[in-house]
Amino acid sequence: MPDQRFKLECRICGTTFPDDHPKHECPEGHPLTLTWRQEPPRFAGPQAAPGKGALWAYDYYLPDFAPGAVVSLGEGGTPWVDITAAAIGGVKSGAGAGADAAAASNGPKCLAKVEFLAPTGSFKDRGAATMVSRMKEIGISQAVEDSSGNAGAAVAAYCGAAGIQCDIFVPASASAGKLVQVERYGSHLVRVPGSREDTTQAALAAAAGTYYASHNRHPYFLVGMKTYAYELYASLGDKVTDLLFPTGGGSLLLGAFYGYRDLVDAGHLARVPRLWAIQTQSCAPLAEAWARGLNEPVPIEKRPTAAEGIAVAAPPRGAEILLALRESGGGALTVGEEEIMDGYRTLGRSGLYAETTTGTVLAGFRRLAADGRLGRDAVAVIPLTGSGLKASG
Ligand SMILES: [Zn+2]
Repeated sequence: MPDQRFKLECRICGTTFPDDHPKHECPEGHPLTLTWRQEPPRFAGPQAAPGKGALWAYDYYLPDFAPGAVVSLGEGGTPWVDITAAAIGGVKSGAGAGADAAAASNGPKCLAKVEFLAPTGSFKDRGAATMVSRMKEIGISQAVEDSSGNAGAAVAAYCGAAGIQCDIFVPASASAGKLVQVERYGSHLVRVPGSREDTTQAALAAAAGTYYASHNRHPYFLVGMKTYAYELYASLGDKVTDLLFPTGGGSLLLGAFYGYRDLVDAGHLARVPRLWAIQTQSCAPLAEAWARGLNEPVPIEKRPTAAEGIAVAAPPRGAEILLALRESGGGALTVGEEEIMDGYRTLGRSGLYAETTTGTVLAGFRRLAADGRLGRDAVAVIPLTGSGLKASG
């Protein structure tokens, strides 16, 4: 039974569909988003969720799932740590450290939400948990997904736990080390010659005969990402002013936006924090569009980058991301490869072994703090999206 509290909506053309609409896009090809038909309920803090991950402590804000459909591996409930001193000054020793500490106490705060403490080592578990629960609920037994990174591992893990046979399409060039995790979860790897975009096309073609469990398009993937906002609100209340994201497909950015919007609509907050999409100069379809005042991502030629987790040349929800940035009063910006590696190393020296992609968002914080867009009283939250251990060995 569909949950009557929700509808599927195209945020770009405004078309709406019932929650059980079989397609995940509007006639114009925009991915759909699950939105409330009514005012969201009052925020009731985390509720008991015995035997399930902390994400389900906010299930009154999620669609109802049939009894026994929820697939949980312990997702959600990640902590945040204050990394302001390291983020502002870099980690130095000797005389510089005192000056950094002084600057840190007077400037914007940088809080890192440690999303790599998730069952498969990345934030994608939030979306995989809700998407695969929905798939189990409606009786899906076979599916395809395309990703050689965090999303592939997350979807493989939850499909494995749900007893769903999943084919994960990956570029033939993807490194063997990254694919070990997917195979351990029991998914079948389909190696596709050519570019990352060729891989998506192959998955789409295969999906015509089965079910497309796309982390970039499926509305029930996005809905799990909203819990990032609920957890921040439960812990920090109205203190968060800015949310920064290393942005490729933008699922966490959009999830956080809709999660915070629920809290505004329920009367708890005056406004959504400002959202900032941070991209690498090597692949910046959204930041380019933002700089030119456009409503659609700009077609770009992507170059090799250390931030491979966000090297998405044509984000399917690109127009929706630009809309969310605008509605929140934030924006998009790029950082260079050197800045990314510097941010990555800073995190490592702070004891936080995150994937290199995360260096992007630390670099973004430094940019915004340096040019004054993050004021002295700002409290910014960055996600440490994935574990550095995935790239080790
Ligand atoms: Zn549309």
